[in-house]
Amino acid sequence: MTGSVLEVDLDLFAMNLARVRAAIAPAELMLVVKNDAYGHGVDAVVARARREGVRWFGAFDLVTGARVRTGAGGDARIFVWIADTPEQVAAAIELDLDIGVGDRRLLDDIAARRGGPRPARVHLKIDTGLRRNGVRPEEWSEFVSIAAAAERAGSLIVEGIWSHIAEASDEDDDIARDRFEQALRTAETAGLRPRWRHLAASAAAFARPEFRYDIARVGAFCYGIRPAGGPDEAELGVKPIARWVAPVVEVAGDVVRIGVGARDGLFSTLASRADVATPAGPRRLLTVAGAMSEVAAWPGADIGDRVVVYGDAGRNEETATSLAETIDSIGEEVAVRVSPLVPRQYRGVR
Ligand SMILES: *Cc1c(COP(=O)(O)O)cnc(C)c1O
Repeated sequence: MTGSVLEVDLDLFAMNLARVRAAIAPAELMLVVKNDAYGHGVDAVVARARREGVRWFGAFDLVTGARVRTGAGGDARIFVWIADTPEQVAAAIELDLDIGVGDRRLLDDIAARRGGPRPARVHLKIDTGLRRNGVRPEEWSEFVSIAAAAERAGSLIVEGIWSHIAEASDEDDDIARDRFEQALRTAETAGLRPRWRHLAASAAAFARPEFRYDIARVGAFCYGIRPAGGPDEAELGVKPIARWVAPVVEVAGDVVRIGVGARDGLFSTLASRADVATPAGPRRLLTVAGAMSEVAAWPGADIGDRVVVYGDAGRNEETATSLAETIDSIGEEVAVRVSPLVPRQYRGVR
């Protein structure tokens, strides 16, 4: 072996799923699998999640949504939130996906549809402050009236109302939740009775019961990725499911070269800031080049030894998040950056 591998432990993933579901109950889990399941490989993750009884998946885009539908089967619920064009909407309806709708033009397109296999399942998005997308509060009342009329006409079903929050400060989140509550009341006045209200991702769903509503959309914690600067894995009760392992390919005096580099997705800014776990304990990562990196040598270092770029803090390894913290990033960024060309090796495939 001359290149790195990402080892993914699906049994740990199953344990995290159980922990997350217990923590957010009675809300249901929507497992977020965008970005190839945060780099862990969407197909294997979805297959195992289905075995563990997960019913809702947050796929982000249509390509991922289609892939989840294939892997998860007909009765899974799959939420996509960037269907944009009428063609994408038609494809989403064909696949029986739940579609996030956060702008008026898209709602009008869906409301104007005729024929097709079934009404569109939509989740209306209120912008509660993030301003990424979503309907502004001043336009919400008209928006939900149009949706209610379209529901009566049979072109769509309003399955949900949702928003996304920053989860950076409790104060801002509280303001966002007030706006969400107001939006729910306005929708009810318009005659809508959505079954699924959802607002929180990992952090708020864990820490703040009043943010859970009917579904929590959780990605990071299911993969064992803790928040930068936040509670650690032990406090959260989850474990990182991935370990990024690289082989020693050369020993040259007081420097050891390992088979992982920037082209594999290792941030070059980690050089001289982070350690890797070697058989002799942590050693400084000195340089990061394209295909290789240099690490401070240890006694007896040999070609074929394995070093861990990130894994489990409980085993004295860096984690995706601890690496991220040294470069002012977040664990998700480190994880999704691992190149798709790095082989994923699964344990616990059932
Ligand atoms: C990524 C994402 C999530 C999941 O966030 P985590 O912090 O990883 O749990 C939830 N909702 C939306 C809209 C997202 O884009």
